Amino acid sequence: MIASLRKEGIRDEKVLEAMERIPRHLFLDKAFEEWAYRDIPFPIGNEQTISQPFTVAFQTQLLQVKSKDRILEIGTGSGYQACVLYELGAKVYSVERVEPLFERTHKFLQKIGYNGIRTFLTDGSDGLARYGPYDGILVTAGSTDVPQALLDQLAVGGRLVIPVGGDNVQKMLRFTREANGQFLREEFGDFRFVPFLKGIDKGES
Ligand code: SAH
Repeated sequence: MIASLRKEGIRDEKVLEAMERIPRHLFLDKAFEEWAYRDIPFPIGNEQTISQPFTVAFQTQLLQVKSKDRILEIGTGSGYQACVLYELGAKVYSVERVEPLFERTHKFLQKIGYNGIRTFLTDGSDGLARYGPYDGILVTAGSTDVPQALLDQLAVGGRLVIPVGGDNVQKMLRFTREANGQFLREEFGDFRFVPFLKGIDKGES
């Protein structure tokens, strides 16, 4: 998997090493286990997916995580991306809006020893102001707009990585907060994510 990510253009060795340390098969349903290290996304229940490894690597690379950075992830899902951030030495805060998924992943992360990752059941549209400001905010669902709360919760020099667009395709955007209060906006190609939705979903366990 790591070799194929390299071939696809992922250059950040720290990101690749972090991904190499995480057993991705544990994050998938048993039925998909044997394909866990191919570069494909998988369903994780409650109509959600674990992003494909290339997307995880690409977003993480854009976030430019340094050890001790405070990072907020919107969309915990399976917890895989949160573990990658944690392996990079970040202080990780991750929020999920689907209750059964939040419960399941929270327990799972404890079980596999990632107790340091802090997870929250909440709608990420408002960010998570009480632990901010953040050095990085990573949105792992496709949004139609850029929530102002997320920009507001960036520290100076902090990066927001967010896919923005319609239902079928989103552009990967990165906003960097500058010292003068302005934001540098950069664009990085097309991706496909599950939708960024509002409110809490009680779902079905
Ligand atoms: N980062 C995840 C990818 C999960 S898919 C992983 O590594 O597995 C995106 C997730 O974002 C879904 O679980 C979805 O429920 C969640 N999501 C969508 N909109 C959200 C919102 N407004 N707040 C919090 N989570 C949200």
